[in-house]
Amino acid sequence: MALSVVDLYRDILPQTNCGDCGYTTCIAFAGMVVSEKLPLENCPHLDAEILEKSKKELEVQYSEGKWLKRDMAADALQWARERYASMEIDSLPERIGGTIIDHGGQKVLELPYFNTTVLISADGIEKKDGSPVTRNEQTFLYIHMAQGGSDNPTGKWKSLKEFPNTVSKVVSMVSRVENPLQEAFAGRVGELRKRAERIGGTDRSGDYDSADLALKFQVLPRVPVMLVLWDAEPEDGFGADVKLLFDETITRHLDIESIMFLSERLKDLLLEK
Ligand code: SF4
Repeated sequence: MALSVVDLYRDILPQTNCGDCGYTTCIAFAGMVVSEKLPLENCPHLDAEILEKSKKELEVQYSEGKWLKRDMAADALQWARERYASMEIDSLPERIGGTIIDHGGQKVLELPYFNTTVLISADGIEKKDGSPVTRNEQTFLYIHMAQGGSDNPTGKWKSLKEFPNTVSKVVSMVSRVENPLQEAFAGRVGELRKRAERIGGTDRSGDYDSADLALKFQVLPRVPVMLVLWDAEPEDGFGADVKLLFDETITRHLDIESIMFLSERLKDLLLEK
């Protein structure tokens, strides 16, 4: 018989809310056991026989996916992989750039990605330098392959809020990307330039008269990003400001979630010491 949160709380757990499992209530612990596979033995107050019987019941419902919280990232990766599986690898360079090469007898797309190169084949994605490709990076790259149009960048830059349907993400862009960058690099223009060069950023300050630094990053062959920094001017009471700008064609290559992902990835690379 499957164990719901209520069954577990009512029939199995002691209902003392002692907190020994790390949760303040038995019902909260029951919720984590049922939906996130938290080990039932984390409650040290269960009779061994009841524990074993309940664990067997839980194993059955876990294997059926019953009441389990969905792993959204895994779902997204699966969806993106399936779309990629129906694509012709030979068509990709024309749409998203990169080059088809022979890699160990297999046809592989070699694609520049930030300061590295990824190798994409029917078997999966790897980095040329052997460093790991995270699940989120894989999803990002598969979505780009599935969605990427053949448009080349036009050189017309826009902030996120100028693209349609971005209202919910504009605040996240400021709090998760632009604010951390301005806090890290206020008064440190030289350090930002140095770190940007390390990941392939090029100085485009000449294009922005009023800014103290403008840096262009080629995230993917068809996807550039511009970072513009106005440094703090304490004597005039102005703090630093950072803005990320995207080529007007970016939404033909990436969805809004993927634009957020690449922005956060850029921030993380710049903050790495
Ligand atoms: S350790 Fe057990 S009894 Fe204590 S709060 Fe957690 S589930 Fe409830």
